Amino acid sequence: MMKRPDSEKTGAIKITIIGWRGAYPGPGEATSGYLLQSGDLNLLIDCGSGVLSRLQQYISLDAIDAVILSHYHADHVADMHCLQYAARVSMDLGTRDAPLSIYGHAEDPYFDTLNYHNYSRAHAIDTETALHVGGLTLTFVRNVHPAPCFSMRIEKDDQIVTYISDTEWTDPLVDAARDADLLICEASLYNAYQGVVPGHLTAGEAGEIARQANVGRLILSHLPHFGNHEDLLNQAAAVYHGPVELARTGSTWQVMPT
Ligand code: ZN
Repeated sequence: MMKRPDSEKTGAIKITIIGWRGAYPGPGEATSGYLLQSGDLNLLIDCGSGVLSRLQQYISLDAIDAVILSHYHADHVADMHCLQYAARVSMDLGTRDAPLSIYGHAEDPYFDTLNYHNYSRAHAIDTETALHVGGLTLTFVRNVHPAPCFSMRIEKDDQIVTYISDTEWTDPLVDAARDADLLICEASLYNAYQGVVPGHLTAGEAGEIARQANVGRLILSHLPHFGNHEDLLNQAAAVYHGPVELARTGSTWQVMPT
């Protein structure tokens, strides 16, 4: 069950869109970044260009407990090192107690940079191991993308949120999204580009994942810098007949426990 949030601390998972552009941010925008709040946990999912500035419209950086990164392309990690600097400044000033926990795959040397003195700690994720953080259980599927990249299924009791990061179609994405209350899915491409640009989904494919997985709501994100985004919406809605929206900065949803 889901509703627009107007209350806190209900045990719900709350998602706020911080950034939704692919490749680079437009004016006042950010690339991939999603704030997930659950109980006392404040988890940032991806930390792309512009995310750090936009994030502070909603929460203090000191309150971010952990970051999870789908992969290490710049539009998903560009602000990561600055967030590590922020953790350093806060710990030195005494406004942050604990190091920032950063979760990401260990298949690239970039992983080692997620350890930063005693200010941030890197923790490896993989498809074989469930991650437990702040009452959430996260599991991962491998995407099909030029760099190692993972989508994530996030569960708490009967609440399910799935985030599909950069990928072309692969069947395990449907399992990752199965019966999710909320699916945030990349839709970098209009349908006309299917098979033309590797490593990304079309809006129609995002809709097909949502349909096959029987999700409660589909949010299209990682959107392109050309064309009419309403076409993306229509192409997804032609396949998936549940509620579908374009990700927009500051949009929030709350997945309620039943
Ligand atoms: Zn990418």
